Amino acid sequence: MKTNPWAWHDAQELRRIINVSGTMTSLGASVSAPSVRAATSEAMAHFVDMHDLQTEASRVIARLTGAEAGCITASASAGISLAVAGCMTGLAPGRVEALPRDPGPRNSVVVQAGHLCSYGAPVETAIRLTGADVRPVGTATLAADYQLEAALDETVAAAFYVVSHQVVHYGQIPLARFAEIAHAHGVPVIVDAASEYDLTGFLGQGADLVIYSGHKFLGGPTSGIIAGRRDLVRAAYLQNIGIGRGMKVGKEGIAGVMAAMESWMARDAAAIRARERAALDLWLDALQGLAGIRAEIVADPTGNPLDRLQVNVDERAAGASAARFAAGLARLDPAVIVRDIEVELGYFQLDPCNLLPGQAETVAQSLAAVLADGPALAQIDEADPRNGAVAGYLNWLA
Ligand SMILES: *Cc1c(COP(=O)(O)O)cnc(C)c1O
Repeated sequence: MKTNPWAWHDAQELRRIINVSGTMTSLGASVSAPSVRAATSEAMAHFVDMHDLQTEASRVIARLTGAEAGCITASASAGISLAVAGCMTGLAPGRVEALPRDPGPRNSVVVQAGHLCSYGAPVETAIRLTGADVRPVGTATLAADYQLEAALDETVAAAFYVVSHQVVHYGQIPLARFAEIAHAHGVPVIVDAASEYDLTGFLGQGADLVIYSGHKFLGGPTSGIIAGRRDLVRAAYLQNIGIGRGMKVGKEGIAGVMAAMESWMARDAAAIRARERAALDLWLDALQGLAGIRAEIVADPTGNPLDRLQVNVDERAAGASAARFAAGLARLDPAVIVRDIEVELGYFQLDPCNLLPGQAETVAQSLAAVLADGPALAQIDEADPRNGAVAGYLNWLA
């Protein structure tokens, strides 16, 4: 007998969702392998010395990334706050307890203006939670070496660098150069690589601390990973007696992300790639010959080994805009949630990285049905990704 893949949703009357948008916090980030779920569940049955568990995690992180050390945090966003705080306080517990009231003599963080993005909340907020001041370098679309050099005075605790599709992709100082300049001024470099598959390259380019999300491509429980210099990792970890308390990660999160890291190191990357490619080809096929629709396979903008299907919509010929088609797909049961972050440019994308068995076919059928009849969507409100994220919170329980 075939089991109902939606039994969990149905029992709680939750909306059935097929996620082809990527790794989205608002959709529950990722799904975990059985080994990860087992590790999480097993940890819930035991007491454990949390420092011992974090020591084991540090070993796994070191193996995964090549870093000297690492620790697990509640999320990448928490990791940003703790890493910055660690660079401000070092290993002085009195300084840790003084944050955020008294940020101390090293109380500012430099960031290229084009890197001040939002991942659901502004990255600037995660930095400022420490009490540090954020010092933008350059302008949104242009930062030069001399501007970074001018910003690096004796008050700077860290130079912060974001790798993401959400930052400006031209006119920025490349990481290796950024690190060279910061190090020449004795300033450590923190890289936010929350959503990047490359677990060794940023340290190789000079990062002192790198932050990853545990629940994105790694498929762990909600968590973050800090990897890098042992002294700075220790200082970040020490923040658990201060601002880190409310960002605490539990034993189940640590155990789960350790299992996720192990499973990542053992994965068959070529088979995953081939499976994703097969889904893209299936969808490409389903969209052949539809008026006003032109689909193409596009590479990930930050070089992750991940392609997506971009569906370009000629509104006149197709009878609806890309935003309206995205909204139409989200109206289905199960809802097909596409990647609509650039929808005002006339396209949406389909990300195959979070597909569960059987879902690629459902998506193909949904695409063929919805995109064949734009005028049928005339009554649907277009999703507005700019305001949509905030509206979701505002409308909750309203
Ligand atoms: C997702 C993301 C974060 C936040 O990660 P969480 O683990 O969800 O807190 C931070 N920075 C970037 C660039 C991200 O993409």
